[in-house]
Amino acid sequence: MRLVNLSDFGIKSINYYWERRKNFNLSEAELFEVGITGNEAQVDERLIPKLKEANEIFKKYGYEIIIKDAYRSPELYRLVQKKRYENDGKEITDRTLNAVTMPHATGLAVDINLIKLSDGEEVEMWDKADWPEGIFVDYYRDRKDTKSQEYQGLQDLLVDNMLGLGFRIGSKKEFHHFEYKK
Ligand SMILES: [Zn+2]
Repeated sequence: MRLVNLSDFGIKSINYYWERRKNFNLSEAELFEVGITGNEAQVDERLIPKLKEANEIFKKYGYEIIIKDAYRSPELYRLVQKKRYENDGKEITDRTLNAVTMPHATGLAVDINLIKLSDGEEVEMWDKADWPEGIFVDYYRDRKDTKSQEYQGLQDLLVDNMLGLGFRIGSKKEFHHFEYKK
């Protein structure tokens, strides 16, 4: 694994636990200790051509990708698990954080959202009021209201194209989490 900064390749990203550290009661010092020094995501360099290709595809639909989280060290996983157990409880945390096989520690897993090219805003692909159910694949599939259908359409666009590029959905079945097959 050779880690590179996404920003060096023109791919938008944030570092999720850095950006949201206050929500998880994480201090900057604690994050420094596990190797995070700012709001930047890293991936294994093998993902760069794939993510560039994704941007070419989504551009046709008026979007580009933003990586919300990518490489996480095992130390970060353990720290985040501890904090989230304290904040969210074990049950919800274990449904959404895979601290057992730690897919993000490979550098080959990314959490993705879409950004609208027209205004630079992130696209809402689920309703935060539906947390945690709303982040699982197909949660909106059988809901017939306009909003749910819109979410499902956007999620399908994201998932279908990422699978087409050789990624797969992770074991937690989140619509935004993709792992590249080795
Ligand atoms: Zn993920």
